[in-house]
Amino acid sequence: MIALLAAAVLALGHAPAAISVATARGETTIDVRTGPAGAPLVSASALVGALGGSVRVSGAWAEIDVARQPFRFLLGGPFYRYNNRVQPLAAPAEMLDDTLYLPLQFATEVLPRLFAGRYRYDPAAARLSEAGAPPPAPASPVAAAPERRDDPPRLPSGILPGHMVTIDPGHGGVDPGNPGLFFPRGVREKDVTLQIGLLVRDELQRRGVAVRMTRTTDTLIALGDRGAYCSEGCDLFLSVHINSLPKRPGYTAARGFETYFLAEAKTEDARRVARMENDAVRFETETVAAHPAGGLDFILKDLQLNEHLRESALLAARVQDNLDRVHTGTNRGVKQAGFMVLTTARRPAILAELGYSTNPEDGRFLTSSAGQRRLAVALADAVVAYLHEYERRTGSADSTESR
Ligand SMILES: [Zn+2]
Repeated sequence: MIALLAAAVLALGHAPAAISVATARGETTIDVRTGPAGAPLVSASALVGALGGSVRVSGAWAEIDVARQPFRFLLGGPFYRYNNRVQPLAAPAEMLDDTLYLPLQFATEVLPRLFAGRYRYDPAAARLSEAGAPPPAPASPVAAAPERRDDPPRLPSGILPGHMVTIDPGHGGVDPGNPGLFFPRGVREKDVTLQIGLLVRDELQRRGVAVRMTRTTDTLIALGDRGAYCSEGCDLFLSVHINSLPKRPGYTAARGFETYFLAEAKTEDARRVARMENDAVRFETETVAAHPAGGLDFILKDLQLNEHLRESALLAARVQDNLDRVHTGTNRGVKQAGFMVLTTARRPAILAELGYSTNPEDGRFLTSSAGQRRLAVALADAVVAYLHEYERRTGSADSTESR
């Protein structure tokens, strides 16, 4: 028993303080922290982000895509599920400080074992490398290399200065959006999207990100014009909306949040939401003629859109994950639909439906100052996390031009 304990302590003592992950896209250093039970852990988004995969926490499960393969981790349970098999882990995946952590073993043993041709772990260098990654740089004579003189200073949030995003509070002016069945008397969708949009702006500015609003007052901006607010120098476009259902038996039961990125609608419900939001076009009498055929066909021919689809999907996943941490309603997932407001943005663009005004609990949450603040913080944190991941993936530490 004592020998076993000593061995365990020794093993822990050998956990590196950080590992590096090398891929063809660059090299990332990831801190190793000690979990409550003493096991070495790494941040899932840092690890999986460096490997070009995705992370999603849904209820008791974390779903992770690495090497285009899905893994599932039961939070707090020391095993993972892959290929329909449950396998043991040295420690459980768990949420610490609102961040998902995986046992270090997943990076140092599981991935190199499952994908032997793709990943290799070198314990001496504490380096996980992907096939095709450049060889490690020769060891520097100085133990800790000083920061390169031309490294731009980072903000406290970890991202580079100089980012700008566009926030689009849905509807406005003569277009009230949905009537807000369970909102306080006289409050409509356009009021709540503006309140939350302004809070997101404040939270982003606090994090060092510049914000351009499509509107800051109760005015109508044509759907086809909103995307133009995000072109040169804009990193991403976030449209904020509140969902609702038409009156039919049981319609007040549906609640929760979903995040859309632009593509042809995949489901009937996604088509319904897109129709509802696109319906604002009827308030814009002069602009209707400019976009015949409802919008999507002209834009799907636009090659510029494709390069932003993947980024939009990653941004949507990040936003949905963060909303899940604060929202009292159901996580309805990341979805695709043909929102006209997203078609004209020249950058990654998403639309968040933050809840249902036709549900009493969502209605209260969306109009309470605590609920609005929590949503705004979650959205701002998601944007910063996405920008951080984007910088890491693209190695844009060298230049803010490469956004
Ligand atoms: Zn709306």
